[in-house]
Amino acid sequence: MNEELSRIRARIMNCTACPLHVGRKNPVPGEGPADAPLLLVGEAPGREEDETGRPFVGMAGRLLTEMLKEAGVPRSSVYITSVIKCRPPGNRNPKKGEIEACRGYLLEQIAAVRPEVVVLMGNVALNSLKEVWKLPGGNIGEISGELYDRGDFKVLVTYHPAGVLRDRRRKRPLFVSHIRLAEEAVKKRGEGWLGLRLEEFEG
Ligand code: SF4
Repeated sequence: MNEELSRIRARIMNCTACPLHVGRKNPVPGEGPADAPLLLVGEAPGREEDETGRPFVGMAGRLLTEMLKEAGVPRSSVYITSVIKCRPPGNRNPKKGEIEACRGYLLEQIAAVRPEVVVLMGNVALNSLKEVWKLPGGNIGEISGELYDRGDFKVLVTYHPAGVLRDRRRKRPLFVSHIRLAEEAVKKRGEGWLGLRLEEFEG
């Protein structure tokens, strides 16, 4: 972990900036290589994440690990974090104020890791950064599978693994194709990635 990531982590571990700090067992800052070319953003910690302090360790996390493997991307090579670092009670959706209170940490993590592609997984991640990064309107089905150039990195939107769990037949192959596209953008950095199209990676 680089020094900047360590500093961000330390602040998250002691954060009381929103009411979610009251009920958490462990904040979940995120994990992965400090120079990961892919940075994945989920929604918020669930029960198992809250228990362990690690992101995506429950059922959706196991599916995420499988899907990454299927796309040819080892989980150990990506940085995984979420919009919200502390578990909302009963796994309810994070509130607007909580998202706003926590968003600075995520943006700082992205600046510290300097990934080639940021993958927003699910509606909460998408909605939390849509305006900041001027992403197009529309639901995930409409805007996923495209690379949006945001200067220092590209953004790709896909489904949340928990959403894939509920609709595996349709969403799993799409998720895998999206990750393959992101990985190809990493491999082709500086080589005209804008020509990449999702169709090339659909199985
Ligand atoms: S959710 Fe984010 S802003 Fe709220 S207490 Fe946890 S780290 Fe702080």
